[in-house]
Amino acid sequence: LNKQPVNLTEVIRDTVEVFKNRAAEKNLSFTSDIPELPEVPGDQGLLVQVMVNLVDNAIKYTPEGNSVTVGASFDGQQIRVFVKDTGIGIPEESLSRVFERFYRVDKARSRDVGGTGLGLSISKHIVEAHGGKIWAESHSEGSTFIFTLPLGQ
Ligand code: ATP
Ligand code: MG
Repeated sequence: LNKQPVNLTEVIRDTVEVFKNRAAEKNLSFTSDIPELPEVPGDQGLLVQVMVNLVDNAIKYTPEGNSVTVGASFDGQQIRVFVKDTGIGIPEESLSRVFERFYRVDKARSRDVGGTGLGLSISKHIVEAHGGKIWAESHSEGSTFIFTLPLGQ
């Protein structure tokens, strides 16, 4: 991996900007609050792919009128980014399986929205190649995807 200092604040804000129209078409409340993050050693193009897939999923799997929230925080060790939605959610037993290649929670349900089932497995590879972690949490309404990236020295 060819690592360069990446401004993740810009990556996240740009991704949100790109998806504004699609969120508006679905009448979603689409909000983000991104602080100025420290630069992280990484591959900017690959980190854009992670953000794009998480936001694409959140919008795709969230019905009209619901909400998608993007946020980030950091400490001395790492950056933490989350994409939270109030969409269809993910059953407990599928929370880790969604990161497998071609795995889709409900074949019939996801056929309508399209996709190959590769986005999250690619995202996991990218995050782990940066030394970070990615996981999904499920709540009473919707799900949250979280990833971390180490800041390096
Ligand atoms: P692709 O990303 O390749 O276009 P995809 O979105 O179906 O296709 P992934 O991004 O890998 O594939 O997601 C895998 C599966 O996880 C999805 O098919 C869906 O069933 C489930 N999933 C992912 N994100 C969410 C979410 N925010 N809410 C509910 N289910 C989700
Ligand atoms: Mg996807």
